[in-house]
Amino acid sequence: MNKTEKIEVDRSLSENPVKKVKSFFKRPKKTDVDNTGKSEVIEEKKDLVTKKDVIANDTIKDMKNRKKVHKGPKKIVPTDKDHPVPNKKEEKLFVIPLGGLDEIGKNMTLFQYKDEIVIIDAGIAFPDEALPGIDIVIPDYSYITNNKDKVKALLLTHGHEDHIGGTPYLYRTIDHNVPVYGGKLTLALAKSKFEKSTFGKFVPKMKEARGRSKFKIGKYFEVEFISVTHSIADAYAICIKTPAGKIIHTGDFKIDLTPVDGDGVDFSRFARLGDEGVDLLLSDSTNSELEGYTPSERSVGESIRKEFEKASGRIIIASFASHIYRLQQIVNEAHRVNRKIAVEGRSMVKVFDIASELGYLKLPEGIMVSLKQIENLPDEKAVLLCTGTQGEPLAALSRIAKNMHKHIKIRKGDTVIISATPIPGNERAVYNNINNLLKNDADVVFKKIAGVHVSGHGSQDEQKLMLNLVRPKNFMPVHGDYKMLIAHKKTAMETGIPEDRIIIATNGSRVEVTKSYAKLAGKVTSGITLVDGLGVGDIGKVVLRDRQQLAEDGVVIIVLTIDKTTGKLLAGPDIVTRGFVYSKDADIMINEAKVIIKEKIETLKEDDAKNWSILKVKTKDVANKFFYEKIKRSPIILPIVMEV
Ligand SMILES: [Zn+2]
Ligand SMILES: [Zn+2]
Repeated sequence: MNKTEKIEVDRSLSENPVKKVKSFFKRPKKTDVDNTGKSEVIEEKKDLVTKKDVIANDTIKDMKNRKKVHKGPKKIVPTDKDHPVPNKKEEKLFVIPLGGLDEIGKNMTLFQYKDEIVIIDAGIAFPDEALPGIDIVIPDYSYITNNKDKVKALLLTHGHEDHIGGTPYLYRTIDHNVPVYGGKLTLALAKSKFEKSTFGKFVPKMKEARGRSKFKIGKYFEVEFISVTHSIADAYAICIKTPAGKIIHTGDFKIDLTPVDGDGVDFSRFARLGDEGVDLLLSDSTNSELEGYTPSERSVGESIRKEFEKASGRIIIASFASHIYRLQQIVNEAHRVNRKIAVEGRSMVKVFDIASELGYLKLPEGIMVSLKQIENLPDEKAVLLCTGTQGEPLAALSRIAKNMHKHIKIRKGDTVIISATPIPGNERAVYNNINNLLKNDADVVFKKIAGVHVSGHGSQDEQKLMLNLVRPKNFMPVHGDYKMLIAHKKTAMETGIPEDRIIIATNGSRVEVTKSYAKLAGKVTSGITLVDGLGVGDIGKVVLRDRQQLAEDGVVIIVLTIDKTTGKLLAGPDIVTRGFVYSKDADIMINEAKVIIKEKIETLKEDDAKNWSILKVKTKDVANKFFYEKIKRSPIILPIVMEV
């Protein structure tokens, strides 16, 4: 795993230029929205009353609210058949998210009915600065491990890392005969993970899905793939039918009415399934805090076109490798202005290979050249397409910005386009790159000022449209941190979903779904597993903290020799440092530290001085305090006590 390959694209949250488009569906009357964040209290209360009460209350509320939820010409009159009187024998289905809630990334949701489980997505998250040395983060798979005989299928919504990146790790846990279902491109990307994986050459059975593909899985499950638009081809929502109820999981989606390619959103299928009755909708919350519509991907093509027309020298453009539509638009614009393209960055090269071979990326004859060839082209003929939109230290754009790239040196006349926004947490690295590029006289174009990026996730009006198409009985926002889930909840209430029909779950929640209600019903083991190179899950918090400290402040080793009978200091302290300070002043400071530590030890009571663990703690304390006061740093301090 290369941690610099941040593939998932559009977690940009706050910087979207929100274009207000008049909605083309009837906006329901704004109901009173609870702004006090009472939802949690209500969930808790719900758990306190007895199960029977909940069922009864929910049913009554459901009967009352049904009219409110199902509006318009497709009004469904509730009948006894639609709403069988719930009883203890009512069939139950459990939805268990293991990742993607209260966070961005590592999406994974289990659907369990009786002794069968199907899993939607097996994503990874990328570590933030608090997890140095960690390559990726995956959900805690304990629940799956404990129920591995029940797992019947892995369904993949689309090929982004936060949905497929964990697949090889998951298959270390589950039976190798469990098939993977997904779109063609998704499966190809997932397959390449197994081929590269160090876990052996095993590749699971793959079953290709298209829009409206239906599969019978196990004894009870029937699943259907429904086309949506997103920033990668072959993105699907998935409908899951069981005897206990019907659920739709949107996956990542936006509603792009002018998509660059692909089938677009299958509105009529969503509406039809909605007519038939959907017990629970799980929907993407990534952009739930943004009003209006996310602009069409096509608008980015127009912005890129303008930049390409303006540029007189070389064009260096950075994009997410997995953003196939973006790559296609860049290829198209390069072709239009008669330029050649070289591709740089491992993940970018991989996606170009896979996507062009499968026909998802259409490359005009002769447009691709090697890095070496591009150096020999006239400036106005060259486009370099590279990775590094997030300022990842080893990615192509970062190396170019720091003048560390073997072939590409920035010079006056170069136009550098960053076709993405920084994912929260990466801002500093991205702006460093931009500053470095500017210092080298490049023209730098990035989204904030140029519209060269739009999100792949729908904003509020698109979320409303999805809710109106499906008109679910119950709603559960997914894919987002807590504030995004709550924003999505409010949006859902505006469309007429009653508050007590909206479930705010977290990773590990067990959501019970029947034909008459959905509610939180307990928890399963959940958490994170850290993947460090080849090791999975063997890195604890202490190791991480040490790494963080080592990386930032280095290490100071203090060696003391003590007479074990008297506790007197016989030699030392000697101090060795690594990665801490390196200057002439350091010697003076280290000598000062020696004196202070020596003084401290000599003032210790004899019993304390003879007890090496107390001695270590005291030494550590005094050294810590000293170095922090001196230079505001906290190195790892390792006292070594030798007793003679
Ligand atoms: Zn995605
Ligand atoms: Zn995603």
